[in-house]
Amino acid sequence: MADDCLFCKIISGSIPSDKVYEDEQIFVFRDINPKAEVHLLLVPKVHFASLVDMQQHHDAVMAYSLRKLPELAQQQGLDSGFRTIINTGKGGGQVVFHLHMHLLGGPSLAGF
Ligand code: 5GP
Ligand code: ZN
Repeated sequence: MADDCLFCKIISGSIPSDKVYEDEQIFVFRDINPKAEVHLLLVPKVHFASLVDMQQHHDAVMAYSLRKLPELAQQQGLDSGFRTIINTGKGGGQVVFHLHMHLLGGPSLAGF
């Protein structure tokens, strides 16, 4: 847990969120400013800022997170598919510096 991190505070419950799923390794909640009908944020509970800061000991939680995405998408009714985005750094559009995966889907999903 990093003291000054919004997503660490969401994980701990000190800032409320619309939680969709939680287990020992990850926390999943709805994006406050959704870009599609379904827009979830999947965050590893361990704090690291971005892919640039990913260490070997994060490999397991990252693989686990990726494997969870299709399960979450299916639970959200996204039978025909979904999009996954990881923004990295200011140049990549990242604004919250706790690594997270966006899971997006639904009829209004824009082309890429
Ligand atoms: P990034 O641009 O860092 O990849 O994405 C950060 C995402 O976090 C944005 O899509 C933004 O809407 C979302 N977000 C920022 N603050 C909050 C918050 O307090 N609660 C929730 N649920 N989402 C947030
Ligand atoms: Zn954090």
